[in-house]
Amino acid sequence: MRNVTGPTSRVVIVGAGLGGLSCALHLAAAGRQVTVVERESVPGGRAGRLSVQGYEFDTGPTVLTMPSLIEEPLAAVGEKLSDWLELSPLDPAYRAYYPDGSTLDVRTDTVAMAAEISRVCGPREADGYIRFVDFAKKLWELERDHFIGRNLDTPLDLVNLNLLKLLGMGGFRRLHPKIASFFRDPRTQRIFSFQAMYAGLAPHDALAIYAVIAYLDSVAGVYFPKGGMHAVPKALAGAAEKHGVTFRYDTTVTRVEVSNGRATGVITADGERIPADVVVLNPDLPIATRDLLPPRRQRNLRYSPSCVVLHIGSKQAYGQIAHHNIHFGTHWKRTFDEVIRDGHLMSDPSLLVTNPTHTDPAAAPEGRQTYYVLAPTPNLADGPMNWRGDLADRYAASLVRTLEKRGYVGFGDGIEVQRVITPADWADQGMAAGTPFAAAHTFGQTGPFRPSNLHPVYPNVVFTGSGTQPGVGVPMVLISGKLAAGRIVGGHA
Ligand SMILES: Cc1cc2nc3c(=O)[nH]c(=O)nc-3n(C[C@H](O)[C@H](O)[C@H](O)COP(=O)(O)OP(=O)(O)OC[C@H]3O[C@@H](n4cnc5c(N)ncnc54)[C@H](O)[C@@H]3O)c2cc1C
Repeated sequence: MRNVTGPTSRVVIVGAGLGGLSCALHLAAAGRQVTVVERESVPGGRAGRLSVQGYEFDTGPTVLTMPSLIEEPLAAVGEKLSDWLELSPLDPAYRAYYPDGSTLDVRTDTVAMAAEISRVCGPREADGYIRFVDFAKKLWELERDHFIGRNLDTPLDLVNLNLLKLLGMGGFRRLHPKIASFFRDPRTQRIFSFQAMYAGLAPHDALAIYAVIAYLDSVAGVYFPKGGMHAVPKALAGAAEKHGVTFRYDTTVTRVEVSNGRATGVITADGERIPADVVVLNPDLPIATRDLLPPRRQRNLRYSPSCVVLHIGSKQAYGQIAHHNIHFGTHWKRTFDEVIRDGHLMSDPSLLVTNPTHTDPAAAPEGRQTYYVLAPTPNLADGPMNWRGDLADRYAASLVRTLEKRGYVGFGDGIEVQRVITPADWADQGMAAGTPFAAAHTFGQTGPFRPSNLHPVYPNVVFTGSGTQPGVGVPMVLISGKLAAGRIVGGHA
């Protein structure tokens, strides 16, 4: 395995996103002197918080899976997750709503879920689910230990017995036919394959190895942290600070200082130089490479779709909904094609509606509700649209109308506070192609083919976060922090 060469005592991490925070904890555990330099005044990056007139909104991730991956960086410094975060499992993890009017609760408990599938789709479908759980669990264990949780330098690193096992399990077939080998009903097919969108692909294009995402949320469980998702980075930053990591908030890094082919520190917007033996970059990888390092030709990447998020503070409550609700439109393949292939807005939207006050009434003033509506959209490379004009408000209004037709009676009238976040806003925050979901997980951008976490030229510049290996999403970026630290301390952090 390639590692950082030369001294590694003083590490500067640019960015206190979940990747940077995980890396900081692993490095602190290994005795490194760590300084985290963060542009914003709080940690978390995409896992941010927005406060408007007594309403509290999580701005990024809402579906928290695999708390054991939060436990890991905390355990590295001898801290217990339960001392820093109060997590409650969500049951159901999701409620799915189909165009025929039926609903399906996704339950983490396998027996309860089999009963739910049997109720909605019949007993034969429940048998398929039991087989799927077995398959996806094995897939996750294999991928976690041998492919996701390791630094990979070349494709040859993958060539071992486990690759054969993965091939044998059909991991390199397409996701859709693999899912169809377990499920016959289009409703279960959808609920166990829509997660390909998280990897930036349609189920008919994604590899079956991405069935692990469905495993992570629908089988291993979805959690809600007290205080919302932003409590996760706050906890990690608090623990890191306790263990000697220095945080410099409200400090933007404008470039990495390079001398004799090595990084020697970072320069801030105020012109301050912070010296370093190693620099870890947590901003979006293509942007960090373009803006913070000396110019060099960049690889062309294919990006995941983006999204519009509507944050709504409302007088209206809906007794029929769960914490997370997925509203599927009538069309399936066409919806993915519109967003990913054609660069168009969905003509018949499939939407995620999260109602955090369902679990945490403290997120809104007394008797009020918060809603988070996420609509996949093309990224700015595939579908350049003028989000800075009136499109944002028009699109938001059309999403509100869609939800009113899908059972959210009086949704528009209930709105007290509304914020619309568009791909233009993600671009303004420094995300390539205006997507918060980084490079798509195509075969050519997965594993050893994804941009490496070691800079190809500077031997002491390391990347962490969703643009590098293993990939996007809270579980993956927490792992990326550990892998980055591993490059610095040698072997496993
Ligand atoms: C709307 C949305 C919904 C999502 N939903 C989910 C979900 O439900 N489940 C899930 O698992 N994942 C979800 N994700 C993905 C997940 O949030 C991200 O993959 C993850 O948080 C990215 O973490 P990161 O460490 O790579 O980057 P970031 O969080 O972007 O961290 C980078 C940090 O670097 C800082 N920075 C940037 N430039 C500079 C600079 N020049 N100087 C100093 N600091 C700088 C930024 O301020 C930021 O704090 C979602 C993301 C979004 C936005």
